[in-house]
Amino acid sequence: MTKPTSTTTAAARKLWQFHGGLHLPDHKSLSCEQPIQPAVLPKRLVLPLQQHIGAPAKPIVEVGERVRKGQTIAQPDGFVSAALHAPTSGTVVAIEERAVPHPSGLTAPCIVLESDGEDRWVELQPHGNWTTLDASELRNLIREAGIVGLGGAGFPSFIKLNPGARTEIDTLILNAAECEPYITCDDRLMRERADEVIAGARIMRHALHARRVVIGIEDNKPEAHAALRDALARVDRSDIELVQVPTRYPTGGEKQLIKVLTGKEVPSQGLPIDINIVCHNVATAAAVHRAVEHGEPLISRIVTVTGRGVATPRNLEVLIGTPVDDLLRQCGGTTPTLSRLVLGGPLMGITLPHSGLPITKTGNCILALAPGEFGQHGPVRNCIRCGECARACPANLLPQQLYWHARAKDFDKVQDYNLFDCIECGCCAYVCPANLPLVQYYRYAKTAIWAQARDKKKAELARERHDFRTERQEREKAERAAKLAKKKAALEESPAADSEEAKKAAIKAAMERAKAKREAAGVEPKNTDNLTADQQRQIDEAEARRATEKKNESANERE
Ligand code: SF4
Ligand code: SF4
Repeated sequence: MTKPTSTTTAAARKLWQFHGGLHLPDHKSLSCEQPIQPAVLPKRLVLPLQQHIGAPAKPIVEVGERVRKGQTIAQPDGFVSAALHAPTSGTVVAIEERAVPHPSGLTAPCIVLESDGEDRWVELQPHGNWTTLDASELRNLIREAGIVGLGGAGFPSFIKLNPGARTEIDTLILNAAECEPYITCDDRLMRERADEVIAGARIMRHALHARRVVIGIEDNKPEAHAALRDALARVDRSDIELVQVPTRYPTGGEKQLIKVLTGKEVPSQGLPIDINIVCHNVATAAAVHRAVEHGEPLISRIVTVTGRGVATPRNLEVLIGTPVDDLLRQCGGTTPTLSRLVLGGPLMGITLPHSGLPITKTGNCILALAPGEFGQHGPVRNCIRCGECARACPANLLPQQLYWHARAKDFDKVQDYNLFDCIECGCCAYVCPANLPLVQYYRYAKTAIWAQARDKKKAELARERHDFRTERQEREKAERAAKLAKKKAALEESPAADSEEAKKAAIKAAMERAKAKREAAGVEPKNTDNLTADQQRQIDEAEARRATEKKNESANERE
């Protein structure tokens, strides 16, 4: 039920609650006081061609080519795709399959860049006066800069900044919640670069023609809140509203934050734009500012390296493609108690099979966990049907049913229970007394359904191709048969060629036809028609003789 709550903001703004959610130990103090430091320039960077939702980018460089920092090295391949840029200057040493951040240790095509240590930029094209650019020009700049959602989803940002000609955007929400425990990269960004966040929000608003902008920040980040408030005051942006929301996991989920700030529900399997709202992360806003006003493509991001399994937790500004190993080393290395490395937070992150994997555009946190540090409880037992998972689910789902049907591979049923509304927040698994790895089952079911859909599409395409081929073959066969039948009928209608009578009749008919033709043309037949040259000469000589004789006869008569 939608229920207004009292607000914790200075301005008395009505807020709402979403169903479920959890108050969790946040462990943010491990890293939140650590200012952003630049990560050490790595010797080699591994850049997966797919670091976003959609199609992988297409390489436009070759092995052996020297590139500069910020140079485009792979172009978007299709509409839902994002460009990739060299994070530093150096040489492309390979374009090949490499292990990428994925729980299964999957490989995928990557560009491998060897740094020359000089970090030389390509020439940049800043657009300080971006207010003169129209929305589509801004979206193009953002597309060319390879910006994707930095909050974790990795959707190409220019698409989310394009509402379409007929959709009016009421509210642009900037997501500053950073609700997952341990992660503090957005907190540090807002504290240290609040002006960049506000500048990005203004550009995004301009691109969307949004009626208003609301920044939603959890109330456990008072320093970041103050920094944003001061930045707003500096540019006199009273039209951008800054709202503190209660700390409750997962308030940073797009649908949950929209509910808290506006009271509106995004429809099941729908998008915020369906209710005229667009939501972007604060780090994405800062990246948009750098792309437009400084001409800098997305080549780095802030990463929180934290957990009790690392010696000195920190926030580092990391070049995309930097190996996790390098970051751990810069944080004093791992402790002997390290039990698990996670990319992302403890609830939504993925366990990394090893530390040699690269940081991608969506990698906001490296979490080095010690045994039993967070949600790592005892052995897995059978479900006791306690219903705790349903009480905690912020998407108002029935996680227990989803689990049963996913486990039974009943993919129709699991969709009946709205599997695709699951945001994989992990609340259900966190509270489950049976320690069931519920989210893993949901991810498995989603992957299997996507694979089935892909196979179905492929099979449909193959069937269409087969039907088309069969139809063409049958059509050609029918055409050939019709031609043959026509020829046969013509032969049957014509007189038999081998009968003597028929031959005579045919000759007579031909002569009659020729005669009729001549008569029609008014030409009488002559026996001197169609003479050879010799015949003509003989005729001419006879005519000459006849003329001479006639002449002689006339002369004799006169005498
Ligand atoms: S919380 Fe765990 S044990 Fe309880 S109903 Fe849900 S899945 Fe079953
Ligand atoms: S992971 Fe999915 S099912 Fe579990 S609580 Fe979150 S949204 Fe609900």
